[in-house]
Amino acid sequence: MSADIAFALRNYRREERLHLTARVFENNSEGIVVIDRGRRVVMINRAFTQLTGYPEGDVKGRPLSLIDPDRNPRGFAGEMRAVVAQGRAWKGEVWVRRVDGSAFPADFSVNGVPGPDGQLAHSVLVFSDVSQRKEDEARIRFLTNHDFLTGLPSRVSLEDKFAAARDRVRHEGGRLALCFLDLDRFKNVNDTLGHPSGDQLLVEVAHRLEAVLAEGDAALRHGGDEFVVLMPVPEGRSEQVSRIGRLLRALDEPFHLSGCEFSLSSSIGVAVWPDDGGSAEALLNRADMAMYRAKEEGRNTMAFFADGMLAPPSERLSLEHALRRAVERDELRLHYQPLVSAADGRLVGAEALLRWSHPELGPVSPGRFIPLAEESGLILPISDRVLEMACAQIADWVRDGHQPVPVAINLSALQFRRSDFVDSVAAALERHGVPARLLVLEVTESMVMRDVEQAARQLAELKALGLSLAVDDFGTGYSSLAYLKRFSLDKLKIDQSFVREINAGPEDRAIVTAIVGLGRNLGMELVAEGVETELVASTLRGLGCDHLQGWLYGKAVPPDEFAAGWLAARQPA
Ligand code: C2E
Ligand code: MG
Ligand code: MG
Repeated sequence: MSADIAFALRNYRREERLHLTARVFENNSEGIVVIDRGRRVVMINRAFTQLTGYPEGDVKGRPLSLIDPDRNPRGFAGEMRAVVAQGRAWKGEVWVRRVDGSAFPADFSVNGVPGPDGQLAHSVLVFSDVSQRKEDEARIRFLTNHDFLTGLPSRVSLEDKFAAARDRVRHEGGRLALCFLDLDRFKNVNDTLGHPSGDQLLVEVAHRLEAVLAEGDAALRHGGDEFVVLMPVPEGRSEQVSRIGRLLRALDEPFHLSGCEFSLSSSIGVAVWPDDGGSAEALLNRADMAMYRAKEEGRNTMAFFADGMLAPPSERLSLEHALRRAVERDELRLHYQPLVSAADGRLVGAEALLRWSHPELGPVSPGRFIPLAEESGLILPISDRVLEMACAQIADWVRDGHQPVPVAINLSALQFRRSDFVDSVAAALERHGVPARLLVLEVTESMVMRDVEQAARQLAELKALGLSLAVDDFGTGYSSLAYLKRFSLDKLKIDQSFVREINAGPEDRAIVTAIVGLGRNLGMELVAEGVETELVASTLRGLGCDHLQGWLYGKAVPPDEFAAGWLAARQPA
């Protein structure tokens, strides 16, 4: 090749490349602006104009201030520039000001470009409008924090309300009573007068409870006909009884519904902070036990938690003992539940669920033995076995000539926090020759919220292995959603509690709609679990869920059955 042609070709490629770069720049859906050392605009793209309203000719060569001074923390722009001046990239959320003075929240990044002298010559600012995502988040937060029917805070707010009341009591002295209130024979009302009357009654009960609250008290609807009232109380038991008695008396007056007058009572279980427990969860649990005692004692009464109410330790211990033996003898098994495509019912994946059969008690549900395993530390060897069994199973299916589908396993919090967890996953995949794309790990919101930094690192390392990550039971945990994006999770599993009730009332449907919106926005795949009826399935399909899981399609079954039924049906003819 002559030197002339080589030169021409190089030049041609350079031009081609420049042309391409310019096209990418121009068509990028994120706003891009390049500024020089004096913060004057050098170039902008089309999305910049669309997002901010600044026309090109207007800003070129002029200094530009995109950062809204009223909505961002003070000194914020200066800090950003300092980071970039040090040669590092800056990333974060920023309120960007449009030409008309309005502002929008944006994902924002700034990268410095050094000049020939090595000094910062230009900065490239890239941003996208995230107001839709913010709205979705705020909506979900509101919906999950409030009870649609009564307008009271919902159970999701309990932690927050508890923390606030506890801090107040710490400051002012005394005790904090957590009262768990369950209406007596509410089911009768529902059954005889119908659900609309039942709903009306719950609203009336909520009003009456609110009317007897003192400053600093908080009432929540826990679900169904259960309410929780947090109440700062004096130390003496008899004063506590008389304060809490106001809740019982609030329901003394008869209720009027559908033209009938009738009376209603409630049973209240009480657990007291700090004597009966330090956390909202512990207190709720104990107040619940006390509530059952109140029911036994003849209803329309209250009972305080007492140690004797705890399940006899012997029963617990013997179950734990049996579980330990089952682990040693390797008697736990995985069953597989299908996940299907919402569009056409095709098999798209499976979830591995643990099964244990106790020698005398028979099958014990994971809902019962997993918490026990978590408390006793047995969850670690169990989790190792789950990972091992699932990988071995996938390898078996591949070896048997099945067209494999990704298999999801549920992680436990302890397992996830182990420093060698990522290595153990990589090792298990390798040991069985399983491609990482066939493994899905399900985490819960509370697992990743404990230590967000650590979790973000861990999840990024797992993703780097090539597997996918799903958030399980979404909607039941924390209401802080900003982390979802940071964690680059692939799938969002909408909790069964919303799914099952989706056609029962506007509330759950609204939550699911908002979750789907949020997931879409973050580019996540949406899975609904607990689908039991065709009606629910078609509603979810309409809302835009991608995958469905539930008894409508199939329960979790032993691996052979899963292969013979679901995998065999997938074989190409
Ligand atoms: P999960 O991960 O949310 O699993 C879904 C649960 O919903 C399973 O209960 C499944 O059998 C049940 N389910 C599925 N479809 C339907 C339906 O249409 N209707 C109803 N009513 N239920 C449905 P399961 O197997 O009892 O497991 C309960 C929980 O135990 C799991 O919830 C998970 O948190 C935990 N778990 C199960 N296996 C493991 C495991 O291997 N490791 C760990 N760490 N946890 C596990
Ligand atoms: Mg799960
Ligand atoms: Mg779940």
